Amino acid sequence: MKRILVTGGAGFLGSHLCDRLLSEGNEVVCADNLFTGRRKNIHHLLDNKNFEFLRHDVTLPLYVEVDEIYNLACPASPVHYQFDPVQTTKTSVIGAINMLGLAKRLKIKILQASTSEVYGDPEIHPQPESYKGSVSVTGPRACYDEGKRCAETLFFDYHRQHKLQIKVMRIFNTYGPRMHPSDGRVVSNFIVQALKGDDITIFGDGKQTRSFGYVSDLIAGMHGLMNSPSDFIGPVNIGNPVEFTMLELAEAVLELTGSKSKLKFLPLPQDDPMQRKPNIDLAREKLGWEPKVQLREGLVETISYFDQVLREGSY
Ligand code: NAD
Ligand code: UDP
Ligand code: UDP
Repeated sequence: MKRILVTGGAGFLGSHLCDRLLSEGNEVVCADNLFTGRRKNIHHLLDNKNFEFLRHDVTLPLYVEVDEIYNLACPASPVHYQFDPVQTTKTSVIGAINMLGLAKRLKIKILQASTSEVYGDPEIHPQPESYKGSVSVTGPRACYDEGKRCAETLFFDYHRQHKLQIKVMRIFNTYGPRMHPSDGRVVSNFIVQALKGDDITIFGDGKQTRSFGYVSDLIAGMHGLMNSPSDFIGPVNIGNPVEFTMLELAEAVLELTGSKSKLKFLPLPQDDPMQRKPNIDLAREKLGWEPKVQLREGLVETISYFDQVLREGSY
């Protein structure tokens, strides 16, 4: 049994990770400032004697005694990471320095939740880990993309300079239960709009693509990476390589909800990547990992979650 720190543990992915680690008999320390995370996501864990919640901002130093760190703290939805962009960069960069400093003092392994956004608006398709990316340095998404790129740099320099054990994963668009109804990302937006009978907001012409991974597959990949042989440090893509346009996603959501919502076309946000799809050969080879849940299957689960949330009015 280990004592494991999960930063961002009250968020969408972090709360599922806490569940997984606790179910294996570990102790979990969840550090989160509740910017986009919610007590509701971890409410079922608060009575668990192996679970501890710390309301903490990772831009400040943290002194705890743990055996392993998963660093997930950072808003992930464009709406939220652009709300206070300076804080977003600080969270990625200063947060990484603090968590790496903690890992260095304790001589423990640390995993970074990086992102497919390090590839920016990619000119190579699908994206392998060797692709260096096409990221705007100055645009409205840069606070997130460049923050995450700098965090990866810090992870690799702590590894080279201080011999720290690191694991870096590049997460592609992931969806599932416990996303906030106002999260702002496309899957939650479309489902909530369809269930309420509101217009489905398509940005641009809807022909841009994304590849959507279900949360259970993502957590399996993250856990597999953390526990992989020490000579494998990544970066490694974790995502579902089946690619959809936003129009196809909207059609699937309308069909599965039986909604009569209409499509409403709005301007495409600046620097919005036109295509994204992971090459997952490395994850297959090094982790024996590949996604199991197909989009429609995952959408059914996610629709049923949002349906309950909206009926309870409890968000
Ligand atoms: P989320 O917004 O639900 O979770 C992020 C969590 O971090 C929240 O609980 C938030 O309160 C917390 N947080 C933010 N700033 C903090 C700070 N300064 N100090 C402490 N806590 C802070 O998003 P998510 O989808 O669960 O994303 C989790 C991680 O995975 C993020 O690092 C994100 O960049 C990465 N990621 C997610 C996706 C995805 O599609 N879900 C894709 C790529 C990368
Ligand atoms: N740190 C922390 N917890 C620890 C050890 C370090 O939060 O247990 C933070 C501290 O703020 C420090 C940062 O991690 O500034 C980087 O630590 P490192 O040892 O790499 O560098 P330092 O700045 O201490 O020389
Ligand atoms: N998008 C959309 N309608 C929405 C929200 C998003 O058409 O209500 C589009 C957005 O422009 C982007 C894609 O869906 O092209 C994925 O957006 P999201 O914010 O989920 O993630 P990211 O752009 O970070 O991949």
